[in-house]
Amino acid sequence: MLGLPLHESGKGCANLVNNECIIYNERPVFCSVNEYFHVFDLKMKKEEWFKLNEEKCKELQDQEKEGG
Ligand code: SF4
Repeated sequence: MLGLPLHESGKGCANLVNNECIIYNERPVFCSVNEYFHVFDLKMKKEEWFKLNEEKCKELQDQEKEGG
């Protein structure tokens, strides 16, 4: 998972504890939607990037609810 430690369950990031990131202030750039946008100079509008991330986040939440 992009170099992050995997949770012992085999699903998700081990840094997510009680639904909070325990390394939030030092998290990698790919964990920050805003920082990622600026670092990688994405060829899209910031609003599009945020909307895309929101959609993917909702998909992942739905998968989690379904036990996926
Ligand atoms: S923000 Fe990144 S490091 Fe923190 S829990 Fe989520 S995936 Fe893991």
